[in-house]
Amino acid sequence: MSTQSSIPWFDNFMGVAYRYYDLRMNVIPLISDRKESASLWHDTIHWWLDPSIKIRFVETGNKYWFIMGSDSQKPDTNLSFFKILQKSKNYERFKKGHGGEAYLRLGVYTKKSLSDVKKSALCNCGHKADDHDEGDNDVCLYNDCDCKQFSSFQVNLLKRKKTITNIVFLEEKDVKDDPLTWNCLNANKYSKQN
Ligand SMILES: [Zn+2]
Ligand SMILES: [Zn+2]
Repeated sequence: MSTQSSIPWFDNFMGVAYRYYDLRMNVIPLISDRKESASLWHDTIHWWLDPSIKIRFVETGNKYWFIMGSDSQKPDTNLSFFKILQKSKNYERFKKGHGGEAYLRLGVYTKKSLSDVKKSALCNCGHKADDHDEGDNDVCLYNDCDCKQFSSFQVNLLKRKKTITNIVFLEEKDVKDDPLTWNCLNANKYSKQN
């Protein structure tokens, strides 16, 4: 048995962003709370040994599993991360462009409302804050847009980073050969079916 199977699975984060920053692709798990992001780093990721950090991607239709784990110098507070996410342009860009290496950073994700942003800020619908009606629940004024309320977000990247060099995209039929991925799907999918 792999010792990896005893590490708890953590999926209480909002998603993963992929961005170019410092000349390299960054993989950025998004945490909604600054304190929580700090303790996740100090208690868990700080103790990871860079060469043993693994990230895995398993695609299923429009979605994919993001899986991340590592050996730790402090095994009693170690965690493995997973999340089922919607495929996105940035995900596809990362898949094509990572070149075998990425930085791991945490990001603090803050939701912004109409009153928090500049007029030129973009809403998740793609239109500017200025194009939303403050007098009418912040609806988007474009006729062909069905956005009912301005919403936007900001990601603050934490400075500390780790280097990931073990990045693999897998198909579900091959997960048995990869212990981290197998443990994840076994614990979070197969053992919960029926
Ligand atoms: Zn909008
Ligand atoms: Zn709109």
